[in-house]
Amino acid sequence: MQRTVGFIYAHPDDETFGCSFLIRQISDEGAAAVLLTATQGEAGKSGRLGSMTPEQLAAIREQELQRAGEILGIAEIEHLRMGDGKLREMKQEVLVDHIVAFLNKHQAEVVVTFPADGISGHPDHIAIHHAVNKAVFSGACRFVQKLYYNLMGLPDAKAAGAAVLELKGEGQQEVKAKALAAHDSQILSIERVFGKLDDGPPWHFAPELFQLVWERGSFHPAKQEHSIFDDLA
Ligand SMILES: [Zn+2]
Repeated sequence: MQRTVGFIYAHPDDETFGCSFLIRQISDEGAAAVLLTATQGEAGKSGRLGSMTPEQLAAIREQELQRAGEILGIAEIEHLRMGDGKLREMKQEVLVDHIVAFLNKHQAEVVVTFPADGISGHPDHIAIHHAVNKAVFSGACRFVQKLYYNLMGLPDAKAAGAAVLELKGEGQQEVKAKALAAHDSQILSIERVFGKLDDGPPWHFAPELFQLVWERGSFHPAKQEHSIFDDLA
């Protein structure tokens, strides 16, 4: 059976920022990476594309995500089209139900999402973090065996003996640069984090880190991991 990894994020581009190496690797190994994106990112800025309405930006960001998904090899993208910036105001059960339905539909065995601080502290990211926790820990996601948080540079977690998978992105730097560039409307925030993309090649993106926080009912298993597919039943 083909392995499936579910990525649960808030805005188009969240997946590319933190998971480009991982998604490309999953796809290259013949497994499936599927993505659920809660909002269209219509409250964001439109950077060099100039001013536009939220509706126009929403449409553009969906197209950008489609393009990034093709570059990374995402098998399927689903959009909930909830209000950008409004996830914490809505009933959490609604979000949880959507996440459970998505993960069950795709029979996802592994889930990747934001850590508690949402990486950037964005309230939508934190709302997604809590909703995914609730969905997975409830046991309602029948196929899920492992949950990972996507970290951006957290050597402390490694030092504390946590199971952290580190992907350095050998041979994948150009893929990440192209996927980031596909999110054209977000280029200013991308450059704030990663520097100017057109300065490369070579690019030097930081490693992507994934902390295993739950595996079949046990929290923070202390183990050495080599792949997110390690120890799946
Ligand atoms: Zn975001």
